[in-house]
Amino acid sequence: MSYPPLRAVLETVASYKPSDGVHGSTERARPLSANESPHTPLPGIVEVIERAGSLVNRYPDPGCGPLVDAIARSHGIEEDRIVAGAGSVALLQTLFQAIADPGAEAVYAWPSFEVYPTLAALAGVESVQVPLADETHDLRAMADRISSRTRLVIICNPNNPTGTVVGHEELREFIESVPPTCLVAVDEAYYEYVRGPAVSSALRLCAAHPNLVVLRTFSKAYGLAGLRTGYLVGDAHVVERLRRACLPYAVNTVAQQAAVAALGLEEQLLRRVDSTVAERTRVRDTLVRRGWEIPDSQANFLWLRLGRHAVGFGEWCAGRSIAVRAFGDVGVRVSIGSAEDNDQFLAAADEWRSAGRTATAGAGRPRQVRKEAEV
Ligand SMILES: *Cc1c(COP(=O)(O)O)cnc(C)c1O
Repeated sequence: MSYPPLRAVLETVASYKPSDGVHGSTERARPLSANESPHTPLPGIVEVIERAGSLVNRYPDPGCGPLVDAIARSHGIEEDRIVAGAGSVALLQTLFQAIADPGAEAVYAWPSFEVYPTLAALAGVESVQVPLADETHDLRAMADRISSRTRLVIICNPNNPTGTVVGHEELREFIESVPPTCLVAVDEAYYEYVRGPAVSSALRLCAAHPNLVVLRTFSKAYGLAGLRTGYLVGDAHVVERLRRACLPYAVNTVAQQAAVAALGLEEQLLRRVDSTVAERTRVRDTLVRRGWEIPDSQANFLWLRLGRHAVGFGEWCAGRSIAVRAFGDVGVRVSIGSAEDNDQFLAAADEWRSAGRTATAGAGRPRQVRKEAEV
């Protein structure tokens, strides 16, 4: 059989796997693999979604007017500095496309959000992955890797999958050191879960740096993952160019109205975030007491650096109908879910230890294991 030629990158690029398979089970696994909110939408949001359903014979508002207004008000910034997208992943894709001149490179930490290498490859952008140091962005090493070819630097703050954060001063100094010809994208998908005085949003730095953009999403703290809405804040000139690179009508009517409603119910939603943060502390403290080595997470997940035991532990959890996310021979990310799901995870982790398995990557703590490496 002969097929039409498609780009060679499509033979090698990873396809996104939504969650690690839970084998031999008909019941739905406990969903601790995708960092979703464990809470179903508030009644006020469900109502808006139902009403918006009656409007879908029409195209959505192409500029997301009311949504952009609501975001502008919530951050106290101008509307022309905001672009909404079908999830922040869509805006990341737009960013990669926007810088994809021949030879362009993007610098980001690794491990970080697994979508970055895929989007870079699809756009024809060369990835420069800089290993984390002590599970945290190594900003000095990242600055060293910026060259005349670098068109985009991504800082995932807090970092997915480790949950670690870059402090405000450190971030400010880094952004100041990046040449103005290179975009800096700070991915703040988990910003609402941060509890720490030394960290603040890069949104505060946007006004001073036309090359800085910040990504936010309604998928995590706002509990709207299924509707796909996110946004980017940046300089008005950059935002105007990025809007040209977005697909028309990308954010559907239901998503736009639900996101506006979510901003209106922010206080209640952020109380739910508080309960997830309390659970994060409880689960991490319990694991650490039991000998697990886990970086301080400021997001709604924990990172277990299990090295070559990662896949085995992922399968162990799957065997107990708990979906977690194993990253090759590197580690396992487990989301903070409902208290009941978290308890089930803690029980599975205890059983793993009782079976004589390790709670760390092993002697020497290989901090910078590459995804493809054998430990
Ligand atoms: C979950 C996540 C997002 C959000 O993606 P959406 O497309 O908005 O659902 C963005 N960045 C990171 C690092 C994430 O983990």
